[in-house]
Amino acid sequence: MKIAAIASGSNGNCYYIENGDDAVLIDSGISAGQIVERMNRLGLTLSKLRGVFISHEHTDHIRGIDVLSRSYAIPVFMTEKTYEAYAGSIANERLSFFSPGNPVSLGNLSIHPFLKFHDAVEPCGFSISSGGKNVAVLTDIGLECENVIAHLRNADAVFLESNYDDDMLQAGDYAPHLKKRIASDVGHLSNTQAALLAVKHASPRLTHVFLSHLSGNNNTPEIALSTFYHFISQRKDLNPEVILTSREKESALVCLD
Ligand SMILES: [Zn+2]
Ligand SMILES: [Zn+2]
Repeated sequence: MKIAAIASGSNGNCYYIENGDDAVLIDSGISAGQIVERMNRLGLTLSKLRGVFISHEHTDHIRGIDVLSRSYAIPVFMTEKTYEAYAGSIANERLSFFSPGNPVSLGNLSIHPFLKFHDAVEPCGFSISSGGKNVAVLTDIGLECENVIAHLRNADAVFLESNYDDDMLQAGDYAPHLKKRIASDVGHLSNTQAALLAVKHASPRLTHVFLSHLSGNNNTPEIALSTFYHFISQRKDLNPEVILTSREKESALVCLD
């Protein structure tokens, strides 16, 4: 499999997962033009894309889907409730609904959506399986739940939310209700929560961790990285490659072999 973060952060998210001739995107939270441009820089074209899966209706996950789907005739998958909450519209012939817990097969990829805790109508995480490998997309999570733990445990690679540093959030100038929302059970995972999730539940098969969905105001790449390394060193049987994702540009394209 080949995987990359096309964009990741509180301002826009899009993740690319490919095996052979088939690929999917998880989320479309930046403009269609930016998605195409960033994919092109990685040597990727839209020709392998079998669909775009939307995790939830927040703008940073859905912003570009209308134009992307319309301009390039790409199928879109989301839950019916997410679609009802979406402010835009997708043509019927390109829209499919999935149910959390029911995997969808596209080409040689199996996409398994599952419910998670977040303040959206029906927020989903995903595991994408192909050729014996599993890639988990675990962002926008207020609280670790059985679903998140189970899919992390099976993951060879994970896009793992590392949204905020506790001290930066508390000392920052966000309004109290916003601070509370971010740190709540339906908000986001902090650097420490993300690292502890991996320490407690990742299996030795985990080879790649993409630290994802970093806040632009309440985190820095350096703090996210150092926090993760600090905790993960407790697991002597784990030695994943850790990749920082960026809101500004695509990550490297990583091969899982
Ligand atoms: Zn969200
Ligand atoms: Zn988000």
